[in-house]
Formats: sequence, C-alpha cells, structure tokens
Amino acid sequence: MAGAPQRRSLVVIGAGPVGLAAAIDARLHGLEVLLFDEEDSVSFGSRAVCYAKRALEILDRLGVGERIVDKGVSWNVGRTFLRDEEVYQFNLVPEPGHKRPGMINLQQYHLEEALVQRATELGVDLRWNYRVTSVQPAAEGARLSVDTPDGPFDIDADWVIVADGARSNVRRQLGLDIDGHVFKDRFLIADVVMKADYPAERWFWFDPPFHPNQSVLLHKQSDNVWRIDFQLGWDADP
Ligand SMILES: Cc1cc2nc3c(=O)[nH]c(=O)nc-3n(C[C@H](O)[C@H](O)[C@H](O)COP(=O)(O)OP(=O)(O)OC[C@H]3O[C@@H](n4cnc5c(N)ncnc54)[C@H](O)[C@@H]3O)c2cc1C
Repeated sequence: MAGAPQRRSLVVIGAGPVGLAAAIDARLHGLEVLLFDEEDSVSFGSRAVCYAKRALEILDRLGVGERIVDKGVSWNVGRTFLRDEEVYQFNLVPEPGHKRPGMINLQQYHLEEALVQRATELGVDLRWNYRVTSVQPAAEGARLSVDTPDGPFDIDADWVIVADGARSNVRRQLGLDIDGHVFKDRFLIADVVMKADYPAERWFWFDPPFHPNQSVLLHKQSDNVWRIDFQLGWDADP
C-alpha cells in the first residue's frame, strides 16, 4: 500500500463487534471491504456477556447465529432477590416454538472470533496492527492515514465506517459528538471458573447479605465461567 494512495469503496475502522458486523453485512451486499484494527487480536477479559433475541436475529443474518448459540449458554429465566428473598421472576420465552432462546451468554472474545472467521471466509480484507491516525473528509469520500509496523501510508475511500469504540479517537478528531449519559457508578467484574450445577438463569440481588447496600449480578458463560458483577458505588477507589 506504499506509493500513491489507492482508492477503495469501503474502509471500516475497528474490528470489534460493530466493525466486524458492519464489514460482514457489507460483504453480503457484494461490497469490497478493507477492515483495519490497531491491535493484533480479538479483545480479551470480561466485556459484553448477554446477547438478546434481536442481536441473535442479526447474527443469524450475518451467518454466525448457529455457532454463537452452540457455544453460548442459553437462558430464559431471570430471578431477582431483595436481601435473601426472591421478589421477582421472569421468563423471556414462556411459550414453545421459538427458533432462538430469549438470551444467550457468551464471552465477547468468542463472539469476535466467530465474526473474524466469518469475515475472513467472506473475503473481508482484514488488517491487524493497522492504526488509523487521521481521517480527512473530502468532496468525494475521505482520505485516511494509517500506521503499520512496516510504516505509514495514505488511502482514499468512497465510504468509511468508524467503529473504533466508545472512546473513538476518530470521532474526537472530526469534532463529532455522541448522544448518551454517563452512568455514575463503578463495578467490580469477576470471571470465576467453577464447575457447578446451578441453573443457567440470570440472578440479580439488591442488598444481599454478602454485599450489603449494593447490587450483584450473576451470569453463567461458556467454558464453566461464571460472571459476577459487584456494584461498588461511584466513590469506590478503583
Ligand atoms: C469491562 C467492560 C465490560 C463490559 N460489559 C458489557 C456487558 O456486560 N454487556 C454489553 O453489552 N456490553 C458490555 N461492554 C461493552 C462492550 O464491550 C462494547 O459495547 C463493545 O465492545 C462495543 O463494540 P465496538 O465494536 O463498538 O467497539 P470495541 O469493541 O471497543 O472495538 C473497537 C475496535 O477498534 C479498534 N481501534 C480503536 N482505535 C483504532 C484506530 N485508530 N485504528 C484502528 N483500529 C482502532 C480497537 O482495537 C478495537 O478492536 C463492556 C465493556 C467493558 C470495557
């Protein structure tokens, strides 16, 4: 890609769930897609866990629904406790005959791996270790500057999808804003590897005896990983 800037129809910045999904969708519509990510792997650690029915419909459209549901933990029942007492219960799919469960739980890196495999299968040109350093809008499309281990280059694109995450540098550079609220709280998120026969249900506690005055959330993920989110409060020292 050295030399005079090449021109591509679509460049996607960021191979997280959003960029990968957009790249796959574009390929399924017959577009050539170049996808850059500044890292060299899918994400790691505890990030997204729950995928709802609508997300599963989209993953079906992208061609990864089956794989995600097979790998994930299906669940429909949620229980809510106040201290020791169960005060509320719901079932997301009370009647039979649904193609997909109400929710599945799956570590985000498994989702991303499935999306990377699908994108590659479909011929998305995915470049790891490519960091977009600037995006300059032009009359027709945009020019991107990209840093790679082999040196920088510029490239032109008719269209750019910016999916570089919640703290998007590109968005900041372009002076764009994002609608939303900062939710002032802190959580401790623990992934515990444990073989246990507890049901695959979402359990949520208000003010439990083991963590007074705060809330706790429990989810089963694949590979016997249990995700526990402890609310710590805004004043907690991270
Ligand atoms: C600790 C934690 C817990 C979370 N828990 C949940 C949860 O329980 N449920 C839930 O739904 N969501 C959860 N999330 C949020 C979820 O992880 C995000 O919503 C999701 O990752 C957003 O996807 P994305 O593709 O927009 O961005 P990201 O996943 O952030 O992906 C952005 C990608 O862009 C790449 N990138 C960034 N800048 C550049 C650049 N200049 N050039 C090239 N590449 C670049 C990054 O390397 C990255 O791969 C959690 C997040 C965190 C951090």
